[in-house]
Amino acid sequence: MSWQTRINEAVAARKQVAAFRVRQPNEGGSVRFLTQNERRYLNFSGNDYLGLSQNRDVIAAWQQGAEKYGVGSGGSGHVTGYSLAHAEFEQQLADWQGYPRALLFISGFAANQAILAALMQAEDRVLADKLSHASLLEAAAHAPSQLRRFHHNQPDSLQRLLEKPFSGETLVVTEGVFSMDGDAAPLAELHNLSKTHGSWLMVDDAHGVGVTGEEGRGSCWQQGVRPELLVVTFGKAFGCSGAAVLCDDATANYLLQFARHLIYSTAMPAAQVCALQAALARVRQDDDLRDKLAANIARFRAGAAGLPYQLTGSQTAIQPVIVGENQPALDLASALRERGLWISAIRPPTVPPGSARLRITLTAAHEPEDIDFLLESLHGCSH
Ligand SMILES: *Cc1c(COP(=O)(O)O)cnc(C)c1O
Repeated sequence: MSWQTRINEAVAARKQVAAFRVRQPNEGGSVRFLTQNERRYLNFSGNDYLGLSQNRDVIAAWQQGAEKYGVGSGGSGHVTGYSLAHAEFEQQLADWQGYPRALLFISGFAANQAILAALMQAEDRVLADKLSHASLLEAAAHAPSQLRRFHHNQPDSLQRLLEKPFSGETLVVTEGVFSMDGDAAPLAELHNLSKTHGSWLMVDDAHGVGVTGEEGRGSCWQQGVRPELLVVTFGKAFGCSGAAVLCDDATANYLLQFARHLIYSTAMPAAQVCALQAALARVRQDDDLRDKLAANIARFRAGAAGLPYQLTGSQTAIQPVIVGENQPALDLASALRERGLWISAIRPPTVPPGSARLRITLTAAHEPEDIDFLLESLHGCSH
């Protein structure tokens, strides 16, 4: 088969099952709205849960950072790309989360790839929740170690895997809040099991930090759990991008030697780090944004109860409406689009076959009337 044939056939197969993905450029807007072809839509698809991408202090910090440091970091952190701003921010993150160390990465995807690639060896195994993010499952699949998946949020299923005789090291992997279902992991049970068997737990809390827990410390803090490895990301509630891993001193020093995504990649621009410092200060400052988001979530769940679709048990900003097959999910999304609502349909392989859904995300930037209009439209489009 030629390259041409292979590529054409793969694309045609995606089109056949209504799973062909296209991107739609938007003309900006804010968190609450976005604009495309000069039409304004209410945005229920972003992950900017606190609206910080538009926060004046965060924007000003980025601008001032650019004036001071320029726009690029000029190299890997191991060469010249690591500034005082980076060092200061890593310390702030470590203090916030109560860990000895934090290491900054350019993205959550890179952090997950780097950590698994650096830690896992051929005799080891990763035991991951079945619904873990692609960045975790792919990293685990590419690592030389074994990958076994346990049933979603089921400690019993993890326990059965842990009890099989095994001589290498085991890393248990899960998310704090699951990105496609919005439900929370039973972190205390998972960590207890993992500790009992001498394993380590890694929690990716991309959708929990900023949004839950005291001072926005996230799912682990909220559940009183301190995993050996905690990944936090800044593309969601921090309204920016980037990620960090929180760990002990020895592990941080190890990763600085062996995490190739740190060593062979240009460091995050210092100006962006300045913006992240301002975002962290805002996240910690008080609960007003989290309270407003919680009120929006409660309003949505109360009003969505009568819909003919399955909702999940999610109490978080991620509120999936499960439609089932691909085409009906796309049809519902486009009917809502006509009414001025921007909501993406999420299809397999991102979610399991037969569970195509609208992934509705709520933010602190939404007003109660936005939620009401969303509910009215969902009811209106569903018969
Ligand atoms: C978004 C996300 C990532 C990837 O983070 P980026 O910083 O966007 O690369 C990783 N894990 C989870 C659970 C996510 O939701």
